[in-house]
Amino acid sequence: MATLDEVARTVLRERYLRQDEAGTVIETPDELFRRVADAVAAAEDDDVEGTADRFYDALSALEFLPNSPTLMNAGTDLHQLAACFVLPIEDSLVSIFETLKRTALIHQSGGGTGFSFSKIRPVGDVVAKTGGVASGPVSFMRIFDVATEQIKQGGRRRGANMGVLDASHPDVRAFVTAKHEADAFRNFNLSVATDAAFWDAVESGEPYDLVNPRTGETVDRVDADAILDLIAELAWATGDPGLLFLDEINTHNPTPALGRIEATNPCGEVPLLPYEACILGSVNLGEMTDGDKIDREKLARTVRLGVRFLDDALDVSTFPVADIERAVSRTRKVGVGVMGFHDMLVDIGVAYDSDEAVAVADEVMQLVSETAWETSRRLAEERGPFPVWSESVFDDPVRNATTTTIAPTGTISMIAGATAGIEPIYNVVYEKQVLGGLEMVNDRFVEIAKARGFYDEDLLTDLKDRTSIQDVDAIPADVKRLFQTAHDVPPERHVAVQAAFQHHVDNAVSKTVNLPSDASVDDVRTVFLAARDQGLKGITVFRSGARPEQVLGDDPLK
Ligand code: UDP
Repeated sequence: MATLDEVARTVLRERYLRQDEAGTVIETPDELFRRVADAVAAAEDDDVEGTADRFYDALSALEFLPNSPTLMNAGTDLHQLAACFVLPIEDSLVSIFETLKRTALIHQSGGGTGFSFSKIRPVGDVVAKTGGVASGPVSFMRIFDVATEQIKQGGRRRGANMGVLDASHPDVRAFVTAKHEADAFRNFNLSVATDAAFWDAVESGEPYDLVNPRTGETVDRVDADAILDLIAELAWATGDPGLLFLDEINTHNPTPALGRIEATNPCGEVPLLPYEACILGSVNLGEMTDGDKIDREKLARTVRLGVRFLDDALDVSTFPVADIERAVSRTRKVGVGVMGFHDMLVDIGVAYDSDEAVAVADEVMQLVSETAWETSRRLAEERGPFPVWSESVFDDPVRNATTTTIAPTGTISMIAGATAGIEPIYNVVYEKQVLGGLEMVNDRFVEIAKARGFYDEDLLTDLKDRTSIQDVDAIPADVKRLFQTAHDVPPERHVAVQAAFQHHVDNAVSKTVNLPSDASVDDVRTVFLAARDQGLKGITVFRSGARPEQVLGDDPLK
């Protein structure tokens, strides 16, 4: 088993290791990996033990980790293993409150939920049953927010939500400004759903129709550019909303016959049909190098194991309601992705902001994607294709409607001691505001500092208050290049890395484009346009000094 650092041990102890009724921890990290490996491999027909051992080896070596609900719940009474869900909301109280109930059950089991509120009639519209006046989608979102606040996920973290509204909804302005008030909707990320009609109107300057979803009537004609400006302004101030490119998402919908995709999970990396769920897992790229080279063989081997693991996990997972069970078993979506991308770049000596980093992203994700699909094809030969495969876009039988996703890996990267997802580092040393404050130290930096003779404790203390090490004289220039922080990397380079990954990812990519505190609203707009241009499925920006991210950034249990 790989050595777990202090942060990993703390996170595991506080959130993941099994406890008895009195709250006493009753398993070791090693036993956790064994529990998860055994529970998931139980789905295998032959060689259950051999497969369990292979899963255990990869998990305990921190080469591959599944999403948190799998680590927490596999082999326990609460056997729900997926992190990502999307639920439908129709324009009726019955639908809204039915979905609210299901949301509570999903949150309780450790999953996050996304919804499109676009079908709900706008503020001021008629309510025939009561002769009253409609209160609009934002008011109903508030109910979801309050409910989420009360339900801690399996007692270990609070639920997270994605709220989506079409740019053409008459209440779009209220939605865009919903998080402006401090502390409003703290359990929601927000995304405005856009499509070709919106972007055409931005480009041409022609009026853009706001349409009442209940009647189909155009109730207003507005300047799409002004809406985009408002979105950019709020994203500049608070980090929300982000954008979804629903046309791009639906161009890549693997099962268009089952319907149109309208929403994603909370962090945007998994567009799903209503009731679908997805189990994610991430390969730790920092463990996929050999000296200063990418170990392609090991990477491919780990991806093969990862896809098999997630396909098994789908079979042994329970789901909170029958509609979800049905939707999941129809398409069998899984999402293998990566974490520790920046660690890999450090190992092979590539700066995050360089063209070479984009080439590495492209090379790595192409290999991950090809290997994942090859594995899904083999699984189809062995176990049959996903049940609605004949209605899908695939010519060859495959076991899963999607195989790849880039997750944020907010917590599992802390267990793996890896940089989160495909993000650049926050700093080489900093205090992370979770579990009462954890000191995050970049091992690679310390190792290099010791080897190169510039390590000293005072230097680390000094670096702790910074968000960049670029102007620290004691650190050699070539080392500084390798440890560019999220603040050092220019926004367009963030977008370029995201795009390189997205081009090989079936689902979507979780990525935050960081902007300096002195960035303008126009700079945010420029990022949005670049994201649109480069074929992304969604985009989120965060300006340094804007309101701290609330949904997943702070300690959810504090
Ligand atoms: N998620 C959630 N609550 C949380 C963190 C994550 O519901 O506090 C869900 C959400 O759907 C998110 C997904 O888990 O998009 C993956 O997030 P991440 O990779 O950060 O999760 P991890 O497996 O590292 O805990």
